[in-house]
Amino acid sequence: MSVAGGYPIPRHLSEVLRRNPAKSGDTRLVGDVVCACGSRSFAVLYVGYPGVRDYGSRTPVLQTTEFGGRYFFRIAARCDGCAKEHLLFDMHLHGWNGFLCGEEADRKARPPAYAKWRCDCGGASHRIEIDILAEDKQISVEESGGELTDDSWFEGFAWLTLSTVCDACKLERHALVDYETM
Ligand SMILES: [Zn+2]
Ligand SMILES: [Zn+2]
Repeated sequence: MSVAGGYPIPRHLSEVLRRNPAKSGDTRLVGDVVCACGSRSFAVLYVGYPGVRDYGSRTPVLQTTEFGGRYFFRIAARCDGCAKEHLLFDMHLHGWNGFLCGEEADRKARPPAYAKWRCDCGGASHRIEIDILAEDKQISVEESGGELTDDSWFEGFAWLTLSTVCDACKLERHALVDYETM
């Protein structure tokens, strides 16, 4: 059954994600990050490890990092227009594992400081697109054992991909974040 309006926007993204209806559907949400001030340019901040694909590609991809015996993965966007910082993803809070299985100790643990992602050209100002994939509503509610409801099922998404375009040189980084949450 089709969800009216398509896949709902998870609460923590409701103020900053502007849906792209052409790419979105019942189990997929694609949108651009847009600040309330109107700006689409952001510094991409991350707590993670900037690695490369393990199958030989040189494409950078941000991965989970260990710090003080705990694992962290967190992405934020700091607006170039008004300096407001928007949390886009935290592995202990968001998606299937974060929302349903996040440990209080991990959520309260202090992560290392953010690093700022830079393009090959040195630019630190980016457009950001987020692509979320999920099971459908009925499966999500069933598999959560009742923890997800008709009002929250979309919080348990399965995959988040984040891509950027550099404001300075227009280089596109497809799937700078490519994170399975299940
Ligand atoms: Zn702003
Ligand atoms: Zn660039």
